[in-house]
Amino acid sequence: MRSRTRLNWRLIIFSAALILVTAGVVTWMILDKRAADLAAMATPTPSPALITAAPSSTPRPTPSPEPTESPVPTVYPTVRKGDRGDLVMIIQQRLINLGYLTGRADGDFGSRTQQALKDYQAVQGLEEDGIAGPKTMIHLFDGSSVPQATVYRMPGDTVYHLKPYCPLVHGPEEIRLSDAVRQGLTECPECR
Ligand SMILES: [Zn+2]
Repeated sequence: MRSRTRLNWRLIIFSAALILVTAGVVTWMILDKRAADLAAMATPTPSPALITAAPSSTPRPTPSPEPTESPVPTVYPTVRKGDRGDLVMIIQQRLINLGYLTGRADGDFGSRTQQALKDYQAVQGLEEDGIAGPKTMIHLFDGSSVPQATVYRMPGDTVYHLKPYCPLVHGPEEIRLSDAVRQGLTECPECR
């Protein structure tokens, strides 16, 4: 009976010791876990918001400068009587197409080409120098050229007529448009 009681006391003490040890280990594990959590909290991890708000290190693409409307410097060589070559031929063909020059373009800037150019300049309101300078060249090829034409006028009248059957014309004489312009005649409003 007595030995059994002592055995029971030993069992109780051993159990208590085991409980205490177990409790201590569990407590230590909990505290250790909390310490690890606290350590993790102490180390600030950058939040996504902060990452987004942080100034980007990638350089912002600099907008390429707008292409400026730079006027294309078009250099027209001046062509005059005595000149020869492809450019003379091009001018002659243009004058032929517009009715100021007859025949075939031969690339030889002679008196006929010079006169045709003067006629063209008269109609276009350009200086009648018979020289294909920059202004004349631009007019020749910019699509604004007025073709040579036969027009009609009444002697003493201040208008020329595009139509020989214009009601305002009676027995007209035929003249060239370039000559009508030179004489200061204006286009008949009835003929438009
Ligand atoms: Zn008329």
